[in-house]
Amino acid sequence: MPIGINYLNLIDTRTKYKMKAKTALNPTIFVIFGGTGDLNKRKLAPALYNLFMEGYMPEKFAIIGTGRTEFTDDSYKTALEEAVNEFSRSGKVKKDKWEDFGNTIHYCPTDFAEPKTFENLKAAVEKYQKEFGAGTQVIYYLAVAPNFFPIIAECLQKYKLTQDEDNSRIVIEKPFGHDLESAKELNALLSTIFTEKQIYRIDHYLGKETVQNMMAFRFANALFEPLWNRSYIDHVQISVTEQLGVGDRGGYYEGSGALRDMIQNHLLQLLCLVGMEAPINFDADEIRNRKVEVLKAMRPFSAEDIRFHTVRGQYSKGWVEGKEVPGYRQEKGVDPHSNTETFAAVKFHIDNWRWQGIPFYLRTGKRLNQTSSLITIQFRDVPHQIFSSDVTENWQQNRLVISIQPEMSIRMQVQAKRPGLDMVLNPVDMVFDYKGTYEGDTPEAYETLLLDAMMGDQTLFMRGDQVEAAWELVMPILNTWESKKSINFPNYPADSWGPEEAEALIARDGFHWFNLP
Ligand code: NAP
Repeated sequence: MPIGINYLNLIDTRTKYKMKAKTALNPTIFVIFGGTGDLNKRKLAPALYNLFMEGYMPEKFAIIGTGRTEFTDDSYKTALEEAVNEFSRSGKVKKDKWEDFGNTIHYCPTDFAEPKTFENLKAAVEKYQKEFGAGTQVIYYLAVAPNFFPIIAECLQKYKLTQDEDNSRIVIEKPFGHDLESAKELNALLSTIFTEKQIYRIDHYLGKETVQNMMAFRFANALFEPLWNRSYIDHVQISVTEQLGVGDRGGYYEGSGALRDMIQNHLLQLLCLVGMEAPINFDADEIRNRKVEVLKAMRPFSAEDIRFHTVRGQYSKGWVEGKEVPGYRQEKGVDPHSNTETFAAVKFHIDNWRWQGIPFYLRTGKRLNQTSSLITIQFRDVPHQIFSSDVTENWQQNRLVISIQPEMSIRMQVQAKRPGLDMVLNPVDMVFDYKGTYEGDTPEAYETLLLDAMMGDQTLFMRGDQVEAAWELVMPILNTWESKKSINFPNYPADSWGPEEAEALIARDGFHWFNLP
């Protein structure tokens, strides 16, 4: 039975900070490359609309969508209205408000294969710049396949669209690079066109409410920090599991895999939030410095580590909720002999004073038994057991479980006495549940990130050195997995918890993977 506790004193620093944005934002032009694509439809357009509805958009703003598909301004507006109706967390658009929002939307046909089409874009941007006046900022959002990142950046430079360092920014979707070399190349190219202050590399996980709360939780409470080290923590687990398979994205996923798609970015970012030292303030660079330090302190993988501390898997067909689902190799766009992993589990170490000897187990995979993202901090056992074994049958070390999705909660698992005449101990949960504590919807990660991009706040975006450090860490594993084909793929059925070797990886150290009931 969960015990309710009052978390009203938890300081939500970002909310306070953001309140300022309602009045302080410069006029903004959003240029969305990939304005006809899936990401814009499902995430960006609904996020901009919700920011508008809640009064966070600047007084003057314009949205310019681009793509090769033929649209007029009106038909594009209608397409976005349908998208918002379908995907917005706030439900269907409010007609009168949509009229106002819709008036800011413009469509500009652009083809990266014909850079001359950037002339039209330049004209559209300049028209709004003139209309909005001095200080107008332009945000170029690259919601397109990564092979287009360089050409777009070069065209923006060629057409002199990014010269104003203070008022032009580029937002880059994941994946940032395919490996260390390509990430370095992209960073090098971008640095010839933009300053680092202009570059916003998105990892949308960092915009999630619970992930942001990690900072508040760790650094706005005196309670946890004294315990947050190797003396009191036994091990850490970060587990991001999905019930879905690759679906229509088989072609994309074949060139990616679980390690590239999830661990190199999202899971390592979560690890940085758990592992980082306390920043001296809430400045973007201070926080990003602390995160890079974690990545730099992580133990590089030797061939032996890769053998014993990593597990890869690929799902075979199976049954999910009464429906038969195909194996990965039978999915559309996938090689029938594919070596791509749809599951990865890795044991990491951070070699510094705080974390020496404490394993960080990261696990992610598709077609698993549950969709959930959990960070579990397992504390050490009591130094001396005073209760007899019949009293402590259900004994469990203290755990802090941060659930990022679908449930948004933080739970502290402690031992308590079960009511009754006998002294019997039982693990119980003290739960901080977002839904129960706060009223109203929580904003989507993209709302937070788009607002931050408008505010010029890079805290939740990845710096170039951060991305490279993460690639550097995973490269030996990627290289080994690519050069040595797995001989036992597929090695876990749909709806399972992944390959048995992943259980063995953690069981060898005396632990087991934690899942929410
Ligand atoms: P998508 O649905 O395939 O959209 C691609 C966009 O690129 C379309 O708007 C397309 O416009 C445009 N495009 C393609 N070739 C072009 C060209 N030669 N000139 C001009 N525009 C061109 O892809 P997506 O799913 O939105 O993903 C976009 C990016 O976001 C990718 O990097 C992806 O990894 C990342 N991402 C996506 C999601 C998601 O939920 N979808 C989540 C996280 C990250 P036309 O077809 O009109 O030309």
